Amino acid sequence: MNRYVISAGNLCRWLGEQAEQLGVEIFPGFAAQDVIIEDGSVRGILIGDMGVGADGQPKDGHMQGMELRAKYTLFAEGARGHLGKRLINEFSLDAGRDPQHYGIGLKELWDVPAEQHEPGLVLHGSGWPLDKNTHGGWFLYHAENQQVVVGLIMDLSYQNPWLSPFDEFQRMKHHPVLSQHLQGGKRVAYGARALTKGGLNCLPKMTFAGGLLIGCDAGTLNFAKIKGLHTAMKSGLVAAESVFEALQAGDEGGQELTTFTEKWEASWAYEELKASASFGPAIHKYGTVAGGAYNFANQLLGNKLPNLHDTTTDHGALKPAAEFEKIDYPKPDGKLSFDKSTSVFLSNTNHEEDQPCHLQLSDPELPIRDNLPTYAEPAQRYCPAGVYEVVEDDAGNPRFQINFQNCVHCKTCDIKDPAQNITWVAPEGGGGPNYPNM
Ligand SMILES: Cc1cc2nc3c(=O)[nH]c(=O)nc-3n(C[C@H](O)[C@H](O)[C@H](O)COP(=O)(O)OP(=O)(O)OC[C@H]3O[C@@H](n4cnc5c(N)ncnc54)[C@H](O)[C@@H]3O)c2cc1C
Ligand code: SF4
Repeated sequence: MNRYVISAGNLCRWLGEQAEQLGVEIFPGFAAQDVIIEDGSVRGILIGDMGVGADGQPKDGHMQGMELRAKYTLFAEGARGHLGKRLINEFSLDAGRDPQHYGIGLKELWDVPAEQHEPGLVLHGSGWPLDKNTHGGWFLYHAENQQVVVGLIMDLSYQNPWLSPFDEFQRMKHHPVLSQHLQGGKRVAYGARALTKGGLNCLPKMTFAGGLLIGCDAGTLNFAKIKGLHTAMKSGLVAAESVFEALQAGDEGGQELTTFTEKWEASWAYEELKASASFGPAIHKYGTVAGGAYNFANQLLGNKLPNLHDTTTDHGALKPAAEFEKIDYPKPDGKLSFDKSTSVFLSNTNHEEDQPCHLQLSDPELPIRDNLPTYAEPAQRYCPAGVYEVVEDDAGNPRFQINFQNCVHCKTCDIKDPAQNITWVAPEGGGGPNYPNM
């Protein structure tokens, strides 16, 4: 199958330029750190302070954060946005919905020899190296400039705490179907990011007083296609139209924009999500093959089969380590497969070291007290950047170490920690990965 393959990162950079030419102000390097909620209505966001030390005290060059107030605020942080999470709780946006489901996507960019390059070649597959209880699939695209994009998307509803999505991805590239495209090439970029994949049954209410939750922050991705750009953009377009109409009619802001819901539910994007509502639950319930057959039959029958639900949370799906054999992943060969530290280096991740840790533990003792004996502390393996380690302190006791500087902002820890003990918050603005051409 041949297609024209582009980088979403480059598309966004180009769209940013177009928006600026139309007068839109963009503030790169500033993170929204909190929501301003007054009298039950969202009034804007708070940009965090710059120049706060690890001890929480202002350092030289400290800059007070700003308030950005608006009649309506649209939240589009992508999968598991930390403000989105707060809004969902604050306004009970997920009431009556199935729990949201997520996947982790790992991706690399390779420069490949000219004779191996077939621009537009698109390959998708599933199965090995994932076991039958772990669902996911891989992709390999030949992009422009003699580059190949390769990636694995793995459901975060997996049960085995010994699993390491990063290592699954590394060994996956050794399969001949994939390795023939990469051999002789050079890996030039690495990244990882969660994606929201629950679909329509898990989609929270997207409206609340003073704002809207859109794109993957809400969960508009169509998992049947593993595509979310088109539906996220459509939710943004519908949101913009709804706000524009309201303001033009003299609306003073702070209201719940129910016209958005009407327009969204009348859109092709909503129809698309409706048609694939059972896709994820069928795979979770019946496995990749039988679930795939269910979805195929459902499509043929014009969506007449029962709408399936998966009501187990992703973190709740994790089982004790004692129920599984430890997985010994092969050592990376440095040609096709690599370790986490060299990978993180290629993500251009950078955080000011002297700042408060943006990975907050509700109970700092829990990782060693509960997670280590029960789940062999899975954060050591599900984090694709080696942020979490269990090390020995001077007395030889285990200690949970957080190397937050390595964090590639994938949000997996916020999703998969079995006790929901980790909260990802935005670090000082500008910190995080910097992906070229991804
Ligand atoms: C590995 C992988 C491969 C994929 N492949 C495809 C594909 O081929 N085709 C496709 O259609 N979809 C694909 N997707 C899905 C697609 O990337 C998403 O559906 C889409 O990007 C969602 O768009 P969004 O604008 O809602 O969120 P995002 O694209 O995640 O954008 C959110 C933005 O907000 C910023 N942000 C977050 N929090 C804050 C904050 N507090 N303050 C300031 N900024 C903040 C983030 O840095 C980010 O730039 C893929 C996803 C993954 C992980
Ligand atoms: S610390 Fe959390 S958000 Fe950061 S890379 Fe690791 S799993 Fe992802």
